[in-house]
Amino acid sequence: MALWRKFKKHGMNALRDVPVELTFPNTLASGKCQIQQGGMAVAWSCSQAADGKIWLISAHAVPGVVQHELGHSIHAYYWNGNMPSGSGIQHKKENCYNPGLGLSEGFATFMPYWVQFEPDAVNPVEARYNFNIETPGSGFCLGSSNEVRVASTFWDVYDKTQDGVSPIKDTWYFTKPYAPVSTFLKNPGHNAMYEYMSVYTAILGNNMALPIVNLFMLNTTQLP
Ligand SMILES: [Zn+2]
Repeated sequence: MALWRKFKKHGMNALRDVPVELTFPNTLASGKCQIQQGGMAVAWSCSQAADGKIWLISAHAVPGVVQHELGHSIHAYYWNGNMPSGSGIQHKKENCYNPGLGLSEGFATFMPYWVQFEPDAVNPVEARYNFNIETPGSGFCLGSSNEVRVASTFWDVYDKTQDGVSPIKDTWYFTKPYAPVSTFLKNPGHNAMYEYMSVYTAILGNNMALPIVNLFMLNTTQLP
């Protein structure tokens, strides 16, 4: 599958010792992954942090959602099930909730884009998520509490394209395509995307501090 191939190609082992259990199709009867719609519980898709198990509803049987949920599963594995505080609540990609939700969902939503698009992709739009991760536009709430802003930050760290208007510009990227993923998975314990400004600065050096802040400002993720 595409996600495992991308990890393996870049020298990372994303495989758990025990295969990830995927329940499909998820229905109300499972008692797992329900959301409220119009005052009623409906079955939804999710990944369980403790063991990475995934439930998918039939409408979500598309690569984008599977790669998103596997992203949660891999994240939970690397962070020993200690997900960002505030994550795991019902959410829509247009809205802001809290920085922990934004971080967890933003990473998971970056996954299908990372798997399906190379760093030189122009205007990448994933079929299921259906937004341009390079320039999401004004339809999304601003700051680290919005998952699309977090996903587009990860994208700018990955892509070779320079966008933005000086000085708020994306002028750098990790030359290793796996680094945007590995620097997240291997630096656990964070509850907000803006905390990765200092993570990246520690990795790349103080002379990169300003370009790093500018990239975050381009995506508004210097804010909570
Ligand atoms: Zn999710």
